[in-house]
Amino acid sequence: MNHEYYKILLEKKVNGTISSSESETLEKHLSVCEECRNDLKEVENMNKLLENHNYVSPEDILWENYKESIYAKIERGVGWIFFSVGSILLITIGLFYFIKDFLLDNKINIIIRLGTGLLIIGVVVLLVSVIRERIFFNKHERYKEVKK
Ligand SMILES: [Zn+2]
Repeated sequence: MNHEYYKILLEKKVNGTISSSESETLEKHLSVCEECRNDLKEVENMNKLLENHNYVSPEDILWENYKESIYAKIERGVGWIFFSVGSILLITIGLFYFIKDFLLDNKINIIIRLGTGLLIIGVVVLLVSVIRERIFFNKHERYKEVKK
């Protein structure tokens, strides 16, 4: 049996350039010829391998995005840690000197000391409130991104 013609048809079938009459002829031959059936499988597998190498699959894109978001999270996490430690140090030292040199200084009017103390407590409460709102807002935004 001459398989050369069918090999050409196999090639065409894989490329998607086969005509319907050629396809019929090929299918008839494939039903009786195991060698050509195996050839078809081999060519198809080869094509799949080539495709996987040449194109970035959707899974790859997802993985890249995932890695990028992980890096962004780590960066932000490290940034927040430095920011927090620095803030705590400055606030603690500032508070220490503020109490020692200002609130406990009997030379300064008690009303001014009391007023300044309350003012600072108010600012801190407002700041905490704004930060908490900001964190909630970020979580909300992230949730919306996931939903898309
Ligand atoms: Zn054959």
